[in-house]
Amino acid sequence: TIAKQQRLGFRRFSAGRTEDSNARLTLLGDLRRALDTGDEITLHYQPKVSISTGTLAGVEALARWRHPVKGPISPGDFIPVLEATTLIHRFTQQVLTQALAQARAWLNLGHRVPVAVNISTRSLLDASFPSRVAALLRQTGVPGDLLGIEVTEYSIMSDPNTAIDALHRLRALGVKISVDDYGTGYSSMTYLRLLPLDELKIDRSFVKDMSTDRGARALVASTVELGHNLGLTVVAEGIEDEPTLTALAEIGCDLAQGYYLAKPMPAGDVALSLLRSAIAVA
Ligand code: C2E
Ligand code: MG
Ligand code: MG
Ligand code: MG
Repeated sequence: TIAKQQRLGFRRFSAGRTEDSNARLTLLGDLRRALDTGDEITLHYQPKVSISTGTLAGVEALARWRHPVKGPISPGDFIPVLEATTLIHRFTQQVLTQALAQARAWLNLGHRVPVAVNISTRSLLDASFPSRVAALLRQTGVPGDLLGIEVTEYSIMSDPNTAIDALHRLRALGVKISVDDYGTGYSSMTYLRLLPLDELKIDRSFVKDMSTDRGARALVASTVELGHNLGLTVVAEGIEDEPTLTALAEIGCDLAQGYYLAKPMPAGDVALSLLRSAIAVA
């Protein structure tokens, strides 16, 4: 009977949920250990490239977790688990510390490389976040304008007053503010105008179809125009082929990121590409 099927379905569903939450608990324990030992979680850096000159405009730090038994676990799988607990604050602190240490190391080699860090909703809304950033900048001696933070529309809109206040305090330190995954959230034009922003990052879902789909291309073009009219730098994420890069150049988009240009890579490889572009310019 239907009722019986529903019961079975329900049982199967709830068993699945139990397995899920067990897996999450195990993962959480492993994450706590990883944050304690501090060597399993590292950062890769993906270049942001100027479309008109081909030069490196900065990098985005992306977290990588190598589990001692399970191997690499992607941020999409472990960050939501962290976000559900206060452990996210320790994670954010570690990521910022590593990213700023790297910016410092590049400075010591004579390279000013802007580094952007993704910040989760919970960390952005944490009242002590801007002062933690200020302390880390002081400790490392990295100028505030070499640090960027990437936040989503969703984060901002979940508590606009708190978020806007935090963004103003960060910006007063010189920190650059990017809206990540732009276009996927429910941003209102009003907020976009009121926010203290430096950069819009157009989500890959729009970018990936733009060389084949007129609608996608029109959306990207009008977003670039909107960003420019607001005085923002516009970045396209997820460029995987040459036609997409050409289309972005035609539209006048400022910066590009994607596997076609450069994949996320260890800091040492960024140094190599810096060296190569220095040679190319010389
Ligand atoms: P995101 O900030 O939008 O980062 C872009 C994601 O797209 C990265 O995935 C990057 O590796 C990937 N990507 C770059 N170019 C291409 C491309 O051409 N094609 C495709 N298909 N993908 C491309 P990743 O590293 O797995 O990170 C996923 C998300 O996890 C990030 O999205 C960000 O929201 C979050 N994340 C990563 N690191 C951190 C972190 O340190 N803190 C926080 N709070 N979130 C992070
Ligand atoms: Mg990002
Ligand atoms: Mg993004
Ligand atoms: Mg994205």
